Amino acid sequence: MNKIEHLGIAVKNIEASLLVYEKLLNQKCYKTEEVESEGVKTAFIQVGETKIELLEATKPDSPIAKFLEKKGQGIHHIAFDVNDIEAEISRLTNEGFELIHQSPKDGADNKLIAFLHPKSTDGILVELCQEKSV
Ligand code: ZN
Repeated sequence: MNKIEHLGIAVKNIEASLLVYEKLLNQKCYKTEEVESEGVKTAFIQVGETKIELLEATKPDSPIAKFLEKKGQGIHHIAFDVNDIEAEISRLTNEGFELIHQSPKDGADNKLIAFLHPKSTDGILVELCQEKSV
């Protein structure tokens, strides 16, 4: 794994939280995007080499909605940049990690993604992401 690609933060209202985070980081959001399949709206702010991804639920039964209900606003996941997501998925599966996605799927910000179950990472939801080649 190369670096922390971004930190995902679950928020109730992305517009309201963007005002907070743009002020905090002194950076403007460079992209907002809805991922229909995940029931989530995302907004990205660059911070040096990494990014903050704000996540708002668009459906009451989406994973972010459930997270907010259980834990409230806060850090939702850590995403690591990988060169070859398929190879990482099989390496981690062989190492005994439980993957939520056995094969990569389309994520926000032009990425292929896969999530590891927090049960197998001592409580942290981990996302693997690989930049899609254009
Ligand atoms: Zn993410």
